[in-house]
Amino acid sequence: MVTFREIKLTRKISGKCSKCSKRRTITISEYQTINQWNINKDGFPKTEREIVAEINQYLLVLEDGLKRNFICRTCNGLYKKR
Ligand SMILES: [Zn+2]
Repeated sequence: MVTFREIKLTRKISGKCSKCSKRRTITISEYQTINQWNINKDGFPKTEREIVAEINQYLLVLEDGLKRNFICRTCNGLYKKR
């Protein structure tokens, strides 16, 4: 069996929940695997660098949204552990 390397990045964001006003820390994470089907816009398999850049970009947008409107895990089921 072939195992593909998984690249996972996590980020911790703390803030005050806009619903329950409690101080909370939320961990957000995203991952991608390096494999022949995970291709970039040029049609080549994404490199580790490309994947890291994409994940960082994704997490940055998520983090930005959370900084504007922080909602803790209890008040929002969206950030449940996958
Ligand atoms: Zn809350």
